[in-house]
Amino acid sequence: MKLGCIADDFTGATDLANNLVRSGMRVIQTLGVPKAPLSTDVDAVVVALKSRTMPAPDAIAQSLEALKWLKSQGAEQIYFKYCSTFDSTPDGNIGPVTEALMDALHCKFTIATPAFPDNGRTVFKGYLFAGAVLLNESGMQNHPLTPMTDANLVRVMQAQTKRKVGLIDHTIIALGTQAIEEKIKQLESEGVGVAIVDATSNKDLKTLGPALKNMALVTAGSGVAIGLPSNWGLKASPLSAALPKAQGYQAIVSGSCSLATQAQVAHYKSSGLPSWSFQALSWSEQDAPAQIKADVAKAIAWAQPLLAKGPVLIYATTDAETLHQVQAKLGREQAGAWMESALAQVTLGLQKLGVKQWVIAGGETSGACVQALNISQMQIGPQIDPGVPWCFASGHSAGHLALKSGNFGTPDFFTKALKMLAEVSV
Ligand code: ADP
Repeated sequence: MKLGCIADDFTGATDLANNLVRSGMRVIQTLGVPKAPLSTDVDAVVVALKSRTMPAPDAIAQSLEALKWLKSQGAEQIYFKYCSTFDSTPDGNIGPVTEALMDALHCKFTIATPAFPDNGRTVFKGYLFAGAVLLNESGMQNHPLTPMTDANLVRVMQAQTKRKVGLIDHTIIALGTQAIEEKIKQLESEGVGVAIVDATSNKDLKTLGPALKNMALVTAGSGVAIGLPSNWGLKASPLSAALPKAQGYQAIVSGSCSLATQAQVAHYKSSGLPSWSFQALSWSEQDAPAQIKADVAKAIAWAQPLLAKGPVLIYATTDAETLHQVQAKLGREQAGAWMESALAQVTLGLQKLGVKQWVIAGGETSGACVQALNISQMQIGPQIDPGVPWCFASGHSAGHLALKSGNFGTPDFFTKALKMLAEVSV
């Protein structure tokens, strides 16, 4: 293993893995810290944690456990991956986890940049932009868990770390890799431990990459990943994304209510393909578990005779108004948890019927379904749409998975993804 990555959430881990594969690395993603040594020959492993919003001491403990495993498997460089909107609070977890990893690696200097120009995240003079606006005007200022009210990342990072935070700005990046290396030396001599780095284009990230070659720890969103594989002489190649041949039946399980997913469900249905939906409004607080069990049985019985003919869609996806009614009736968290459980049970039922090609829509939904399938690691394949690659899980739960976070993907994503799988798996 060349690069060992620790990601603070599940779909973010896939996003990073996708960028590494596109830049020439063979990558697997694990769900949590593996219990056993690596069994396949790969260039990078991304350990997916769920540590973004947990108390900082827990996030540190899990990240250090991941670090220990990655180092034991030979990782030459460590990459701590967080969100491209730098989701964190003054308590963490980006700063505290960065410091703990630096301490453990005896690393005196690292960078921090969430820049991901392909997804509109750019850093200029240390300020993070989401699309055309500053982070704190992007809606992130109202995030329920990690409200981002300051776009100045030097200030945001300084509030989370005891180490001195500095800046490598665009004027240095424009001068090239050597200028960045000299700036790093200068900042180190001034006692800076962490530097925010400007980047407004993929070219900037590719200029930055070689300057990070000897850094024990890199901290970033997924964007910086595009500049790292070339440090090991790796180049983009379809071979790094090759997956085994697809087998078994096809199913789409959708628990995302994001607008993009709503459009994808509508598009799929308008193509005349078979679909079945959960009606959470028919559930009652007292009887929901039994009602869910009955609904799951109905969904599986509906799907069984159809699977041999082509894909089936089972979904909870609904519009905002219906969702509000469900949440008002059952409670927001309870409704979400019940729906996740329903979709996870459906996934398990479909697996027993022979489904091995999955498109799953929704970040939390993906987590619940992958857990139900008892998948602990996935090989990352080619990109379907930005941020969503095909993945392959081997072993007992063998199968191909496209795990789509809510707002990703074109309207024809479901059918496009399955068609693509038939073409790319060998
Ligand atoms: P996204 O990636 O779009 O945010 P998630 O799967 O992360 O999607 O989150 C969607 C949440 O909404 C899940 O907890 C899911 O169970 C819940 N949900 C989906 N459909 C319904 C519904 N019809 N009623 C209530 N909750 C729902």
